[in-house]
Amino acid sequence: MTLFIMVVAPLAATAQPEIPVEQWKGKTILLIGAHPDDDAYSQGTLGLLQANGNEVFIGILTTGNVGTQDPKLSMVDLALIRKQEEQRALAAMGIPLDHYINLGYDDGMLEYENRKEVVAKLVRLIRRLRPDVIFAFDPGKGEQRWHKADHRAAAYLAADAARAAMWPLLFQGQITMEGLQAHEVREYMLYDSAEEDQNTWVDITGFKEKKITAMSQYVSQWSSGWYDYQGPQLTEEEANEVKEKVSKRIGYRDGIPVEGFRYYNGSPDNIGR
Ligand SMILES: [Zn+2]
Repeated sequence: MTLFIMVVAPLAATAQPEIPVEQWKGKTILLIGAHPDDDAYSQGTLGLLQANGNEVFIGILTTGNVGTQDPKLSMVDLALIRKQEEQRALAAMGIPLDHYINLGYDDGMLEYENRKEVVAKLVRLIRRLRPDVIFAFDPGKGEQRWHKADHRAAAYLAADAARAAMWPLLFQGQITMEGLQAHEVREYMLYDSAEEDQNTWVDITGFKEKKITAMSQYVSQWSSGWYDYQGPQLTEEEANEVKEKVSKRIGYRDGIPVEGFRYYNGSPDNIGR
């Protein structure tokens, strides 16, 4: 039995964080998402972690420069609008603005980009920030999780980059030329998981209002701005409607507001198992 614990236990993936997420301290957290609002799945948790003495970084792959039905907006206009919205959302969560990293890819096209190049950029980000925990779209546990195109790409790109970051001979130039070191991330909080795959629910009671405020900043996505963008300010009436709409996206368990994740602890090779 002792031998079993000593030999097998360190290899086994745990399905729950040993320390509840609400008590994490001193960790570096990196969220990888496709669009400048994909952190909305986790904004209560991210706000909580930042407030509790962790360092939260938001790494977004695309500028979000396509997500509109307003014919007046160009891709350049929208990229700027979405950057400003994301900055306002970060401010609402108490996350420093320089913790936002955007890799600048075009919205809607992530699956068609050069995968090796995108993974190299994510590997560089992981080796530079050296996170303890990665938040990412869940690629699926034992199945392929259905996501819309950029989210599907982001799920696999994040998992592939996390795997590659730990091998010093992969993207070796980052180590020999840029002074970075290989880095293995062992903890994952996978968001937008299938409900049956979720195993960890973070109590966001103290951060629910901040999450609502953060989500309400995406005026180009969640208001009449989707069809007819008139700037970040909404009428009081519409601002209240947006707040109500985003509030409905908050999940509850036993009356407690939560965010659900598939937590995974182990080798990045096995994220999907
Ligand atoms: Zn998205």
